[in-house]
Amino acid sequence: MISMIFRQTSPTDEDYFKFYEEIRDQTLKFYSEFAKKYINFMCKKGCSECCESFSILPLEYYYIKQKLPKNSITIQSLSMGNSCLFLKNNECQIYEFRPIMCITQGLPLLVRDESSNSKNIFICKKNENLISDKKIKSYKAFEYDTMIAKLTVYNYLFCISYDIPDERIDIGQLIL
Ligand code: SF4
Ligand code: SF4
Repeated sequence: MISMIFRQTSPTDEDYFKFYEEIRDQTLKFYSEFAKKYINFMCKKGCSECCESFSILPLEYYYIKQKLPKNSITIQSLSMGNSCLFLKNNECQIYEFRPIMCITQGLPLLVRDESSNSKNIFICKKNENLISDKKIKSYKAFEYDTMIAKLTVYNYLFCISYDIPDERIDIGQLIL
């Protein structure tokens, strides 16, 4: 019964989508300012090493789903290992609406470790030379766990509102 509700419901709640867009816009703003500041930023057309299959929250799933142009996307063969299905000729076919996780991939991500009360910065190996060890303590990294916390709360409220299971959805299901 629950899966029937899940398949048949087509949430279009503008408020929740606006909350999602706010988070997405903030992430994109950080991304574009970072890319502008560091000309050696390696997240450029042609690099897709991090484009592996993953899952997204229902709020993000429904948001992207209603944005995707109908019938214009062809997916990789399912035999392409663990690559994301939207990767084609090394390019993302849904780049304009790619999930927030994809936008953050190459950024310096600030993550708090509450057990040791410390902060860590994670960054793709290809970009790690952008931040020198000397500057790392004062470096303004992207507040990754703050973004995830906000997204999780909005997603939870969205799922409750539409009686949708709060379970991550494989990104490939966007084209179903
Ligand atoms: S959605 Fe696009 S950017 Fe994200 S992993 Fe897939 S191909 Fe890469
Ligand atoms: S995060 Fe790393 S692997 Fe992914 S696009 Fe950026 S440089 Fe390439």
